Amino acid sequence: MFRRILTYRNKIPVLIKKISNYLSLFSENMVNLISRMNKIFEKHDVKFTYFISTYLIENQANFFSHFGNHDYGPHGHLHPDYSLIGRKAAFKDMKDAISIFQKLNQKPWIFRAPYGITQIEKNSDLFFEYEKKLGINYDSSINIQKPPWKEPPHPIKHKSGVTTLPLIGVSDDVLIDNLKLNNNNEILRRFVEALDFGKTGVLVYDLHPIRMGQIKYIKILEGLIKSINAKKNFMILSLKEAFSKFYKKGEDETIVCLSGDIDNLSILDYFRRLKT
Ligand SMILES: [Zn+2]
Repeated sequence: MFRRILTYRNKIPVLIKKISNYLSLFSENMVNLISRMNKIFEKHDVKFTYFISTYLIENQANFFSHFGNHDYGPHGHLHPDYSLIGRKAAFKDMKDAISIFQKLNQKPWIFRAPYGITQIEKNSDLFFEYEKKLGINYDSSINIQKPPWKEPPHPIKHKSGVTTLPLIGVSDDVLIDNLKLNNNNEILRRFVEALDFGKTGVLVYDLHPIRMGQIKYIKILEGLIKSINAKKNFMILSLKEAFSKFYKKGEDETIVCLSGDIDNLSILDYFRRLKT
């Protein structure tokens, strides 16, 4: 993955900045971060969807138990950028991720591409064809970027028969890492602002445990849930529920789904990922 980071702005300092940023995030064990988030979800009766890169769990069959009653799905195997590695390698990475879930007695039904990138060799259909081939009918990879949107976010049906519930682009990594926001109220305000732009649609948030599970950010997560619950005709559903409910919901109803990706458990995993 060095290639992806180095080509990002073609400058080594970007890599150094990224690593120092990650070092600052790895102050706590991933299991603690997940359990802190789950406590908030339980308190507010919210079902979350975790996506996990399977290289982290191939030797940790018990890891799923940390997710409690929440949903989870594969987030690729080694977390490569599918637009850079060629079709064979992209298919293999997707297949490996799904096989590991199956080997661990899980039935993967949804997939999220690493970096939300669904383009393989400049072909925008191939990724969804591969999902279908691998028995995945539901996807949450496309990032529609931040609001305002021309129309409220909604499911996207692909030629292959796979349906995507897109990510809304207002995510913790964009707000905290890219925009460098360090005021919790401001971060929460940006998250909440997206709700009004997405009214009557379906809003999928990407809330990474590595950030939102930390003590300094966990209040934002709870604040977001409270803000959604305070809004008329807004409901928080799991991704699984949202796929079936969207076409049956009332015209004035809005669905919100909370999800989060896990692609490293420790700083060592982060370096392992860079090597791929
Ligand atoms: Zn990821």
